[in-house]
Amino acid sequence: MSQTTERTFAIIKPDAVAAGCTGRILARIEQEGFRIRAMRQTHLSKREAEGFYAVHRERPFFDSLTDFMSSGPCVVLALEAPDAIRKWRDLMGATDPARAAEGTLRKEFGSSIERNATHGSDAPETAAFELAYFFRGMEL
Ligand code: ATP
Ligand code: MG
Repeated sequence: MSQTTERTFAIIKPDAVAAGCTGRILARIEQEGFRIRAMRQTHLSKREAEGFYAVHRERPFFDSLTDFMSSGPCVVLALEAPDAIRKWRDLMGATDPARAAEGTLRKEFGSSIERNATHGSDAPETAAFELAYFFRGMEL
C-alpha cells in the first residue's frame, strides 16, 4: 500500500446537502484524517453536471443523474491524505447504499443508487480532471 500523500475530488451531493447532512459528513472527513484543501458550495447547472459526468453520457441513467446533480446545491471538496483516492472511496462505500457496508457514508446518508450522498474520483487521472473542473490552481 502506497503511503504517498495524494489528492482526490469529492462532492457532498444535493440529496445530502438538502437533508442537512453537510456538517456530519465534513466531521467524518476530518475524523478519518483527510485535510480539506479547498471547499465550496455550488449549484451545478444541467450543462455543468453533464460535463462533469460526461464519461456516463451513454448510460441509461445519465439524464436522471444530471437532473439530480443540478437539482440543488452541493459541496465540492479537494481532499488530501495518504492514499486519498482509495481511502475516500472506502469511506463512501458501494455505489448502491443498500449494498454499502456498515459505517460508510453511503450506508448512513444515501437513499438510492442515484441519491447516494457523495461522489469520489476513481483514479489519479479522474481526480486530476475533476479537481481542475472545479478549482483553480490558486485555490489549491
Ligand atoms: P461517483 O462517480 O458518483 O463517485 P461511483 O463511482 O460509485 O459514484 P459510477 O458508476 O461512477 O459510481 O456512477 C456515477 C453515479 O451515477 C453514481 O454515484 C450514482 O449517483 C449514479 N448511478 C450509478 N449507477 C446508477 C444506476 N444504475 N441507476 C441510477 N443511477 C446510477
Ligand atoms: Mg464514478
